[in-house]
Amino acid sequence: MNTFDIFRASTLDGAVAAFRDHGDAMYLSGGMTLVPSMKSGLAAPGLLVDLSAIKGLRGIAREGNMLRIGALTRFSEIIASADVATAIPALGAMAAKVADRHVRNRGTLGGSVANNDPASDFPAAVLALGATMVTDRRRIAAADYFTGLFETALEADEVLAALEFPIPDAAAYAKHAHPASGYAVAGVFVARFGDDWRVGVTGSGEEGVFRLTQAEQALQQGGIKAAEGLNLGELELLDDATFPAAFRAAAIGWLLRDALAQL
Ligand SMILES: Cc1cc2nc3c(=O)[nH]c(=O)nc-3n(C[C@H](O)[C@H](O)[C@H](O)COP(=O)(O)OP(=O)(O)OC[C@H]3O[C@@H](n4cnc5c(N)ncnc54)[C@H](O)[C@@H]3O)c2cc1C
Repeated sequence: MNTFDIFRASTLDGAVAAFRDHGDAMYLSGGMTLVPSMKSGLAAPGLLVDLSAIKGLRGIAREGNMLRIGALTRFSEIIASADVATAIPALGAMAAKVADRHVRNRGTLGGSVANNDPASDFPAAVLALGATMVTDRRRIAAADYFTGLFETALEADEVLAALEFPIPDAAAYAKHAHPASGYAVAGVFVARFGDDWRVGVTGSGEEGVFRLTQAEQALQQGGIKAAEGLNLGELELLDDATFPAAFRAAAIGWLLRDALAQL
């Protein structure tokens, strides 16, 4: 690991200013992705701008028909939250499926969504629920946020401050976890807002998380039975020796049925 400095920011403005001044900085939240990346040489920032002491970036609040979760909120806090349990219990169930206890106790929602690992869980919920990413300078709709593998609409120095999740009538998540890492080989998040159905798929997309529009249309037009009978063989999915595209397509089918059964 290279040598580096750490600046513990106490305000959002201070964090951004330190990032800009240095020119070779990265933001640090829980460090569950960034620190292993630094140890393996995949990332070598000269300065870590630690966001964890900035007030107001952590916590969960229900505001009308919306659940606001601070970017620095840890997965363990999402699991334990009474507001999550009453408003969108599927988010708590999803957080409980992330990695292991250690990662859940340190890893943050914002770190996960900023990193946009194609095998991470929360992007599926962000897309299916139509969440809004609130940053230090603007609001970004889910539809505009995910731009590719490990890519987002965030500018290099932009800090994700909170996520706002519209509260659906019902939602559920089903995941096929990689047996070694726990990451999603495939994960399907289903949300229903009145007659409007939205389905987000993570883990298997060639460009990262995506909406399963075939399932959404089938649900809207023919209900759950129509979606259960879908042929997903045409989807263009990640294809590797361990989990070929055909396996992933089958997994998305059974995970969709599993999520609908939960509803
Ligand atoms: C063994 C293991 C298993 C895992 N299994 C799963 C799994 O099953 N499912 C899953 O979804 N994830 C899994 N993860 C990933 C884990 O969820 C992420 O490491 C974690 O959520 C990232 O959050 P963090 O706070 O640790 O981010 P950090 O590691 O601190 O940061 C990650 C990246 O995001 C940037 N960043 C962080 N916070 C912000 C912010 N607020 N604004 C802008 N940029 C920011 C950082 O600069 C860095 O590039 C696993 C990780 C490990 C180590």
